[in-house]
Amino acid sequence: MGNAKKCAEFIKESNFIVAMSGAGISTNAGIPDFRGPNGIYVSKKYDPYETFGLKYFLQNPVSFYDFAREFVSIIEKVKPTFTHYFLAKLEKSGKLKSIITQNIDGLHQKAGSDNIIELHGSFEKSICLQCGKEYSFEEMKKKVFKEKIPHCDICGGLIKPDIVFFGEQVKNFENVEEIIYQSDLLLIIGSSLTVYPASMLADFARGHIIVVSNGKVNIDSSRADIFAREDIDEFFKNVSKYFKEAKEYE
Ligand code: ZN
Repeated sequence: MGNAKKCAEFIKESNFIVAMSGAGISTNAGIPDFRGPNGIYVSKKYDPYETFGLKYFLQNPVSFYDFAREFVSIIEKVKPTFTHYFLAKLEKSGKLKSIITQNIDGLHQKAGSDNIIELHGSFEKSICLQCGKEYSFEEMKKKVFKEKIPHCDICGGLIKPDIVFFGEQVKNFENVEEIIYQSDLLLIIGSSLTVYPASMLADFARGHIIVVSNGKVNIDSSRADIFAREDIDEFFKNVSKYFKEAKEYE
């Protein structure tokens, strides 16, 4: 039996599916040059520590905001991939309970998924570090193109997007352990599992594990029921063929 068919069988048998996604799921969306050490996208143009180091940011956020300006224009244009939509449908069917993502690109939301845990936060919200005023993505977008370093309209304080920098705690981690523990099928998609906490999350799984990635993945391959080393969208297109006939989701 091919991997895609096997994956479809596992999905049909499962009732508490959890997906974990990393940068690889967004590559086909057109963010290929923005892969970073922390699941956060960084191109060679930006030094990861000068860009995402909290200490650096507080002293001199120029590098971060140069990155942010470019990233914001990219995420505005890109569209979710087949796999983002596939997961959204799987959630609507009731089988997929949660998506845990290392990405900050918002593509799961764009695809229509609701139950998303963003370990590294997102650009959806930004916060003034001095008075706590919140800025929406739209407000920040205007600001990054108007101001070299965006400051608060109220108090003049420095504004920081709600994404996780080096030196900060990942978000929602306690929930994540519990959710993965409950899963009967864990889909690990486009994550290398090298960055904490993603690197250890698979250990909480008690059910089946399917890994889909065209890059290296830091997992004991005997632990995975399926290890599909191929293009992620091609794989899930093949998987979806086994559903369409039976209309088992949609
Ligand atoms: Zn303020």
